[in-house]
Amino acid sequence: MEKEKSAAKELQEKLTFTQRHIADVKPEAVKAAEEFCEDYKNFLNAGKTEREVAAHTEKILLDNGYRAMQRIGDSFKAGEKIYYNNRGKAILAATIGKKPLDEGVRLMVAHIDSPRLDLKPNPLYEDNDMALLKTHYYGGIRKYQWGVTPLSLHGVIYRADGTKVEVRIGEDEGDPVFCVTDLLPHLAAEQNKRTLADGLRGEELNIVVGSLPYEDQDISERVKLRILQLLNEKYGITERDFTRAELEAVPAVKATDVGFDRSMIGSYGHDDRVCAYTALQAEIEVRDPEYTTVCILADKEEIGSTGPTGLESDFVFHFLGYLADAQGANYKMMLQNTKCLSADVNAAFDPTFPDVMERRNASYLNRGVVVTKYTGSRGKGGTNDATAEMMSYVTGILDAAGVIWQTGELGKIDLGGGGTVAQYVANRDIDVVDIGVPVLCMHSPFELVAKLDVYMTYKAFEAFANAK
Ligand code: MN
Ligand code: MN
Repeated sequence: MEKEKSAAKELQEKLTFTQRHIADVKPEAVKAAEEFCEDYKNFLNAGKTEREVAAHTEKILLDNGYRAMQRIGDSFKAGEKIYYNNRGKAILAATIGKKPLDEGVRLMVAHIDSPRLDLKPNPLYEDNDMALLKTHYYGGIRKYQWGVTPLSLHGVIYRADGTKVEVRIGEDEGDPVFCVTDLLPHLAAEQNKRTLADGLRGEELNIVVGSLPYEDQDISERVKLRILQLLNEKYGITERDFTRAELEAVPAVKATDVGFDRSMIGSYGHDDRVCAYTALQAEIEVRDPEYTTVCILADKEEIGSTGPTGLESDFVFHFLGYLADAQGANYKMMLQNTKCLSADVNAAFDPTFPDVMERRNASYLNRGVVVTKYTGSRGKGGTNDATAEMMSYVTGILDAAGVIWQTGELGKIDLGGGGTVAQYVANRDIDVVDIGVPVLCMHSPFELVAKLDVYMTYKAFEAFANAK
């Protein structure tokens, strides 16, 4: 009887699969993840907007032996590292491989924009001796989460003479911050009857920026004038210059360890800087790869990858075209032989809200990088559904490198869904699959990830970039 039982157990172990905690499978990864994530937190704090991440990344690339690619007349040797900065809002970095480009490249695509409150073109107004800024939210936010949280202001403004001013206020020690107000509970009886989606409305996301009047009492709107005076002294701008600006209000909170065991990181913008950072590290560290590696940090994913810095535009394919031209490679063959990891976060199972997930197919914190065969909504609408061949190729690389990976669907079938850039890459005849870090509280001002998953995602990109 005893012997029979152990044979059954043996068979069970052989035929079934149980997704285990990374710390149980690879105890040594706990310390490695802890160390790896220290610099990730710096990366999060250095770049709160797509422009800041692109600028910070360009510095990192230059420090690591990359040079700017020339679009015409450049030539690239195997092992060489090059980059291209697209309009200061998206970055492409590549390491030239030993194989000819006709055999394809290894693409890793992540996005560096995150949901936030953008200022409207005419944002500044005064009401009852208070100065406020009108905002227009960017990306899928739950609006009620953005009230009464400290906000910092980031971006660029062009003056009438065409000169540029960079703004970053609310991040440094001693800086003021800003905030969206909300009602006190005593007077919220009517507001409490609204649905949660309507808790704060779009036109209620107004940011408080001042309350002192300009001293001369003969004029109207003195608080607004005082704010304009301060802005003019600091940045040399006038009210009209807001119309030629990109100013983004984001949570002023810094990335920080979460939990008594410090196993997680709480921060604004893990989506998708956690995949951007891990892919970038793998790209930087790769030496003399077989296939050319290309790491793309794109903008505008959160609003549908539109515009010249989003993946729906041709900017990535122009870059690949320039590489092909320089080597005299066949561009179509290069695309057809390319493999791509579309790197984006997935929704992790939340024990407080289990009902939105289908437990057998959800992703979980600390169980590894998520390989997402398809996203989409309802009947897989709008997804790239990776082929079994591509799943086999990618998971084969991960298994060979000892990378712990899990699968993950974005919630129950009929509840909602989401999309990534995978479809735009697939449209160019490229095999692609989604991969990334499981996240809690996605798109909120304070998202959570587990350090072990961040580390495993980095190991996944490392394995992919170095694949033979
Ligand atoms: Mn994302
Ligand atoms: Mn997102």
